[in-house]
Amino acid sequence: MRSTMMDYPLVLPSILKRAKEVHPHKEIVTKWHDNSIQRLTYGEFYKRTIRLMSALRKAGVKPGDAIATFCLNHSVHLELYFAIPSIRAVLHTINIRLFPEQLTYIINEAKDKFIFVDKSLALAIEKNLSQIHGVQKFIIIDDKENVPFPNLPNAISYEDFLKTGDEIENFEPIDEFEAAGICYTSGTTGNPKGVVYSHRSTYLHSMSICMGDALCIREAETVLPVVPMFHVNSWGIPFASVMTGCKLVFPGKHLLGAGLAELLESEEVTLTAGVPTVWNVLYQHLKKTKYNLKLHTMVVGGSAAPRGLIEGFEKDFGISILHAWGMTETSPVGTVSHLRGFMKDWNGNKRYSYRAKQGVPVPGVEIRAIDDNGKDVPKDGKTPGELLVRGPWIAASYKSGESSESFTSDGWFRTGDVVVLDEFGYMQITDRKKDLIKTRGEWISSVDMENLVMADPNVLEAAVVGRKDPVRDEAPVIFVVPVEGKEVDPKGIHDRLKENFAHWQLPKLDDIRSVSAIPKTSVGKFDKKILRKELEE
Ligand code: AMP
Repeated sequence: MRSTMMDYPLVLPSILKRAKEVHPHKEIVTKWHDNSIQRLTYGEFYKRTIRLMSALRKAGVKPGDAIATFCLNHSVHLELYFAIPSIRAVLHTINIRLFPEQLTYIINEAKDKFIFVDKSLALAIEKNLSQIHGVQKFIIIDDKENVPFPNLPNAISYEDFLKTGDEIENFEPIDEFEAAGICYTSGTTGNPKGVVYSHRSTYLHSMSICMGDALCIREAETVLPVVPMFHVNSWGIPFASVMTGCKLVFPGKHLLGAGLAELLESEEVTLTAGVPTVWNVLYQHLKKTKYNLKLHTMVVGGSAAPRGLIEGFEKDFGISILHAWGMTETSPVGTVSHLRGFMKDWNGNKRYSYRAKQGVPVPGVEIRAIDDNGKDVPKDGKTPGELLVRGPWIAASYKSGESSESFTSDGWFRTGDVVVLDEFGYMQITDRKKDLIKTRGEWISSVDMENLVMADPNVLEAAVVGRKDPVRDEAPVIFVVPVEGKEVDPKGIHDRLKENFAHWQLPKLDDIRSVSAIPKTSVGKFDKKILRKELEE
C-alpha cells in the first residue's frame, strides 16, 4: 500500500522562507574585522538573499554550476549558503588554510565558476591565480579590514554585485536529491576528495542536529559558531540555526581568547561550537579574566575533547561541553555524547569518562565496528574495531569516484577511525587507523595517552606519535605544550602514565618533549604528519 502523504521535497528554500515568515525580526549579528557590529534581521537577510539569487542568475549562473566561497564566518557567507543552492547551483566552501597545491586543485576539480572572496583573504587567491582555471568572476566581500581592493580579474564588490539583482521571489522546483553543496576532505594523504551534499541530506541533517538529544539548537538559543563555515559547513549549524530562527552571532576573525569572550558576553550567546584547541585557549583566558557569560553549552568535535577540559569547564564555569563526532563524509554530525537519564546523577570519574566518549549515533545514523576479518566486535568497551556508519546524510561515494575501498559492498562507509563500543552503545575513538602506534607487536592508542597527559593542569596541549625504534618497532613520543608560565615535568607525566599504561607502552623520559606549539592542520587538528617527519629527520 502506498501512503497518502504529499510528495513534498526537503529543500533549502523551505528553510529560508520559513525564517522570513516565522522569525522576520530575529537577529543575525556579525563582528567585522574593524570590531564594528552589524545587525540584520532575518527579514532583511531574506531580502538580500533573494536579490543575490537574482544577481547570480543574471550573471549567467546555471543549475549545477559550482560557486565557491573563500570566507570567514559572517552574514554575507550565510546569504551565499542559501542563495546558491536555492537557484540549483552548488555551494563550494573552500578551506582558506589549504596549501597552494590543494587550493588550486580543489578549485579546478570542482570547476568553480565564480569565487566570493573576503577582501583580507584575497591575496592567497591572487598569488595562485596562474594555477587556477575557468573562474569567470571574483566577487569581493568587504570584511572591513584595512587592505586595498584586490587585483583579481573581473573583480566586483559584493554590494555592487548585489545591486545588479532584483528583490523578487523566484523559486523554481528543486529535486531534493540534487546537489546543494560540496566540501573537500582535509586530505592528510593524497589529494582532497569531494563530498557532495544534497538538499535532502542537508535538510535532514539540520533537523537531526536540532534535536534535544543532539545539539539542541532551538529558537530560544543564541548561537555563535566558531567552527569555520568552510569546515564541513560549520558542522551544519548555520542551516540548522536558520531552520529554528535562533539569534545567530558570527565572529568574523575574532576567534580566540579575549576577542571571542567579549562577543560571547556582549551578545549573550548561549550555545557555541568549535574544535578543542579554541576552547583550551578560552579556558585559560576565562581563568584570568572574569566575564558575565550566559553560555551553557559548547559543542566540541573535530578532535577528541580532552576529559580535563570537560571537567574544568563544568566545575569552574558551569558550562557543559557536548562532545560530538563527525567527518566531512557524514555532513558531519554522526554521534553525540549526552548522559542518559539514568546517568544524570553520576559523579566524578564515571560522569566525566562518559562525557568524554564520542557518544551514541543521532537518530537517522547507524554505527557498528568491525575487526580485521570484517566481524562485528563485541560491545564490551575494550575490543577495538573500525567504525562503519550509514544513514541519509552519509556519503555513498566521492565526487570523482575515487577511494571506492572506503565503501563496503553492503552500503556502509568505512571511517578509518578505530573505536570501542560499550554495553550502552557509546562509542569511543581510540585512534585513527594510521595514527595507532605499534610497540612490540601490540597497539597503543595515541588518543588515550594524549588525554591522560592533557589532564595535567600544567599542560595546554599534547600530541603523541610513534618513532621508529630498533627494539620496540615503534616507540611513543609525546610533544607537550605547557600552560603559559608553567614547565613540563617529564617525570610527573611518566608517573601518571604508569597508572594506566603497561610498562612496555611507556615512553622514555627523553621522549617526553616540551615544545612551544604543536603544528595544526588546515582545520585545527594536530598535524601528526609533520611531527612524524620531524622525528624522521
Ligand atoms: P574531518 O573530515 O576533517 O572533519 O575529519 C574527520 C575526522 O576527525 C574523524 O574521522 C575523526 O578521526 C576526527 N574526529 C572528529 N570528531 C572527533 C571527536 N569528537 N573525537 C575524536 N576524533 C574526532
